[in-house]
Amino acid sequence: MVSKAAQRISASTLSTRLALDGPKDETKELADAFDTMLRRLERTFEQQSRFVADVAHELRTPLASLRTTLEVVPADTETTLDDYRAMVVTQERALSRLERLVADLLILATSEQPFFRSGVALGPLVEEVFTDLKHVADARQVTLRLMNEEEVVAYGDEALLTRAFSNLVENGIYYNHSGGEVVVTILRKDAWAVVTVGDTGVGMATEQQALIFDRFYRVDTSRTRNRGGAGLGLSIVAAIVQRHGGQVQVESTPGVGSTFTVLLPLSET
Ligand code: ADP
Repeated sequence: MVSKAAQRISASTLSTRLALDGPKDETKELADAFDTMLRRLERTFEQQSRFVADVAHELRTPLASLRTTLEVVPADTETTLDDYRAMVVTQERALSRLERLVADLLILATSEQPFFRSGVALGPLVEEVFTDLKHVADARQVTLRLMNEEEVVAYGDEALLTRAFSNLVENGIYYNHSGGEVVVTILRKDAWAVVTVGDTGVGMATEQQALIFDRFYRVDTSRTRNRGGAGLGLSIVAAIVQRHGGQVQVESTPGVGSTFTVLLPLSET
């Protein structure tokens, strides 16, 4: 019966279950294991198709913007040079959004591949992230501050860790208000490097905190859309931290701010 069922299963019949009744013998054990495997496969397939649908949805908006401007502006006989200039600005924004989305998807798609780990000094890494984001912080009048009293060296992939902290600091800037700050602290606790990224921004409710690490999840779609984020930033952070065998958590109070805490294994050298 188990072998017959195994032959019949395909991607579209993953909801099949053997649900074998009877004595707790080896056959029953095998059938139960088979059902558990099917349940897991079904969930993975569901996640994959939802992911593809979300990607398609995200691609549609910038593509529609490119197509509309390309069709409407040149077709109008009274189009001026200024109209064309405005079109270029719109298209540039749409292109940036597409580029960012593709870059994010690539990181998520390759997150299973082997990566290069070595000792990574976290203080200098965060300073570099600050330098890269200084213009964004200045434009929003948000101060970036690093509190790092001892040298803490994590065991990780420098490029991936830079990406993770860049996403967290960038969020701290974007979901902040003018005059606010983003404070990063780095310290050592037991076998862990502990990095916190705290902001004085909008914060979020408890029920949202459980969802923000999901792919494509955004708390407030209108606000984030202006910024062009697709809701992938924190899922990338989670994927990177997980690959390092670390942990990431959030604590947040609406209207007060959020603090993300990242635990990474320390370098032994
Ligand atoms: P994106 O910022 O592109 O929307 P993220 O995955 O980085 O995607 O974040 C998911 C959602 O979590 C955001 O849309 C935002 O609502 C919320 N969020 C992330 N970081 C913060 C933060 N520091 N303060 C408040 N909300 C945040």
